[in-house]
Amino acid sequence: MQEELFKRLVSHCKEYGFIYPSSEVYDGLGGVYDYGPMGAELKNNIKEYWWKAMVQMHENIVGLDSAIFMHPKIWKASGHVDAFNDPLVDNKDSKKRYRADVLIEGEIDKMNDKAEKEVAKAAKRFGESFDEKLFRETNPRVLEYTQKAADTEKRLATAMKNNDMADLKSLIEDLEIADPDTGSRNWTDVRQFNLMFSTQLGNISGEEGKLYLRPETAQGIFVNFNNVQRTSRQRIPFGIAQIGKAFRNEIIARQFIFRMREFEQMEMQFFVRPGTEMEWYNYWKAARMAWHKAVGPADKLRFKDHDNLAHYANAAVDVQFEFPFGFKELEGIHSRTDFDLGAHQELSGKKMQYFDPELNESYVPYVVETSVGCDRMFLSVLSNALVEETVPDAQGEDAKRTVLRIPAPLAPVKCAVLPLLRNKEELVDKARAVFNELKYDFLCQYDDKDAIGRRYRRQDAIGTPYCVTIDFETLENNTVTIRERDSMEQVRVPISDVSRIVGEKTDLRRLLENLK
Ligand code: ATP
Repeated sequence: MQEELFKRLVSHCKEYGFIYPSSEVYDGLGGVYDYGPMGAELKNNIKEYWWKAMVQMHENIVGLDSAIFMHPKIWKASGHVDAFNDPLVDNKDSKKRYRADVLIEGEIDKMNDKAEKEVAKAAKRFGESFDEKLFRETNPRVLEYTQKAADTEKRLATAMKNNDMADLKSLIEDLEIADPDTGSRNWTDVRQFNLMFSTQLGNISGEEGKLYLRPETAQGIFVNFNNVQRTSRQRIPFGIAQIGKAFRNEIIARQFIFRMREFEQMEMQFFVRPGTEMEWYNYWKAARMAWHKAVGPADKLRFKDHDNLAHYANAAVDVQFEFPFGFKELEGIHSRTDFDLGAHQELSGKKMQYFDPELNESYVPYVVETSVGCDRMFLSVLSNALVEETVPDAQGEDAKRTVLRIPAPLAPVKCAVLPLLRNKEELVDKARAVFNELKYDFLCQYDDKDAIGRRYRRQDAIGTPYCVTIDFETLENNTVTIRERDSMEQVRVPISDVSRIVGEKTDLRRLLENLK
């Protein structure tokens, strides 16, 4: 675990206005965070990237913005009232609460890590002549660790599928799992815990008026299927996309914004003819991976098939990202069959069908869903971007810099406008004039505090791709220097070219074109 990097990331987020703990003046609220000025910009840019890639770039995908509150029967039909549970276990000594499956998965990770360490050690020992494949297949220690990990994973999947809380408890005992904080092995039994938050409608008392805060945005899409299909005149296959808040009473909200109690999802339900769902499942797997790879490094992204399919799914895969605490789910892609539409049709008594003119028949469409957490995407972008580096040929305070290498189209501020000196009126006036023009094109910052080197560092730390500096030569010939964040190279260009240069590099189009 790159604990150092993670700690640095959390404090960087706070220091530069990306993320603050919620209600900090009252000592915070667990698992809830607020996005500061830079965070709000980055998050909006991520949402825009997703929305454009899904809705704008697909003629057969339309958007929706459904309400957070919905009729409580929706959650009965979807299975959330009865089955949206996590297995919970308490440590009797520390009084700390954990998710049993997460504790066990942690042990599996440790077993796999041990195997990887053996491989890395051998690679170092044997150098050039190392045959990794052969080593993995024959080394007894590697085989032991990987076998144990695979067996445990299988047993966990079976216990989860069968709701076998007793076996989860036995697994914790067999693996001798201890409380990560205190080392105690004194556990309670494992029991189910429903993750939905509930609240009450003002004018109706008791169970009748019980409402839930939606735990996913998808159900708002399903129950609007008929409305959207009719009004948008889409034909199958087509999709409905939505970005919105979701709420889950997570047992342990840890790892910063990775697991929150209030978070944002970007979900798309793609409605298809039954029997064609695997074709579309594979299409969306590839399309979503391309979307991630356009902004993240290929070696930090991978697919992980679900061992444990939900009752409604006939195929499911996670896109995992290598966060500072390991490879974890960033997005889920699920083939959900006709489960949701079918369940709403049954409970509501209203038809949830599509008349297929080509087949001349009506059916309940099948659904392939893509569901990515906006906050997890934010964390993946930032954890990949934060770099501390030595600056060549610089000395003293300037010899080190912290830079956020955020892909330019996602960067919160696109361009900073800086007069070389703050106390020269001509420079300040000229810089203000440049800023006042550029602000129509993208989010810019004007800054004349401190020495120019410091100002560059401040922009590096928030990931601004370009700094435009107004100096004495500007006053003579209307040229400025543009400094590029990653290379720190400066070129002199006419003021009239700045908008085009910055615009070309920071336009979302650069990312969207990669998705073809
Ligand atoms: P996990 O196994 O990590 O709890 P999940 O499989 O329950 O996640 P889904 O129900 O598939 O997650 O939700 C889709 C996406 O929503 C996830 O891939 C993730 O990016 C995001 N997400 C889910 N729960 C949270 C949360 N508590 N905080 C932040 N993002 C979340």
